[in-house]
Amino acid sequence: TDIGSQKDRVVSEEEWLQKWELGNIGFHKEQGHPLLQKYLDVLLNGRSGLRIFFPLCGKAVEMKWLADMGHSVVGVEISEQALKDFFAEHSLPYCEEPVPEISGAKRLQSTSGSISLYCCSIYDLSSSIVGKFDAVWDRGALVAVNPRDRQRYVSLMMTLMEKNSSCLLVTVSYDPNKHKGPPFYVPESEIKSLFG
Ligand code: SAH
Repeated sequence: TDIGSQKDRVVSEEEWLQKWELGNIGFHKEQGHPLLQKYLDVLLNGRSGLRIFFPLCGKAVEMKWLADMGHSVVGVEISEQALKDFFAEHSLPYCEEPVPEISGAKRLQSTSGSISLYCCSIYDLSSSIVGKFDAVWDRGALVAVNPRDRQRYVSLMMTLMEKNSSCLLVTVSYDPNKHKGPPFYVPESEIKSLFG
């Protein structure tokens, strides 16, 4: 398929913030994602007490599911509103603190400590700041990244993953000439070459 029509499209951080302000968040799934339920065993692979990463997390309810199962969840999201809505909608008390390594960034952490959400761009993170992860839930993340930034995004993700980690990646399949995205169409062949 010709993805030429999407490859130069850029969605700015301001546009994402505006979507949150205006409530244009059709991507948010109130009931959580059925594919996480379906493939949870594959992601966890019998392991417990994992560190699980949610890139471009929005206010994904799956963060609460996994924390309730005893895992430790870390997310990153540029919209502070999304993160505050997440804690409010689940009635989770949290505290907020600056991230010394990243100017302007904040970390919102549930009082229980099991959910830690960074309010900054994912490109500001590194393993020296957030550590490495045993599992990644990538839904609405790779497909939301601007097409020109995909390799940068994937290379960063690989530096954040432990050797024996697993990643569940959700993509959407459609004719990229009919919709400008996001979500962008990322063909399987590109996923293979991105992750190597
Ligand atoms: N994964 C979530 C949200 C998907 S929408 C879900 O499944 O519901 C993509 C999200 O990425 C938006 O909330 C947007 O604000 C955020 N975002 C976009 N660019 C980002 C960046 N560079 N760093 C962190 N978050 C970003």
